[in-house]
Amino acid sequence: MTVPLPARLLIATTNPGKLDEIRGILGAVPVTLVTLADHSPGPEPEETGSTFAENARLKARYYAGATGELTVAEDSGLEIDALDGEPGVHSARFNGESYAEKFATIQEMLAERGTDSSTARFVCALTLAVRTDGIVWETTGIVEGRVRLPPRGNGGFGYDPIFYYPAYGRTLAEVTAEEKAAVSHRGQAFRALGAYFGKWLDGSGPGSPTWAL
Ligand code: IMP
Repeated sequence: MTVPLPARLLIATTNPGKLDEIRGILGAVPVTLVTLADHSPGPEPEETGSTFAENARLKARYYAGATGELTVAEDSGLEIDALDGEPGVHSARFNGESYAEKFATIQEMLAERGTDSSTARFVCALTLAVRTDGIVWETTGIVEGRVRLPPRGNGGFGYDPIFYYPAYGRTLAEVTAEEKAAVSHRGQAFRALGAYFGKWLDGSGPGSPTWAL
């Protein structure tokens, strides 16, 4: 028997930049989006995974178990080819609190390799989990571009000012939220989640789970 789409979906992140983007992308899905601010799930789980997918899974499982909500967690970051994929899963913690410091470090590391730019990508691994069954569904979104110093633009968050998207001829900090979401790793992953919910709602295909909430 297929279960109805739950009334609520927990977005398991405290990053305000991510939350704004996710709300914009999932706006049309008929679920109430709740956040960790609506719960007191206790200390955050340590992100011990060596891949984005491992970290997304451990966060989704943990928060679904702690809250009983249908939970979506994502783990994301920037992979710079000339730096062997760094900062990767360490993007949030990479060298220093401020992004100005992180950008300066990246510039130095690129300079040591004789360049000021590199091919790069943002990756977003997304996992949907429920307390009774664990992981329900997962996907990954990727956007390819170039890391270029110096930083440009005031929009977006995180590494957006150094992520140049060739098709736009601008960094993701120089485009509107809609333009970023149309191509971004997070936009792709959460649109796929919206499509999964669409199948769930009309009772068709793999988006129609049979587990009990
Ligand atoms: P997480 O909370 O461990 O997934 O950290 C992800 C980190 O990757 C963020 O704190 C940012 O530093 C970076 N990141 C992820 N997505 C984006 C994006 O869309 N733009 C800029 N930086 C991002």
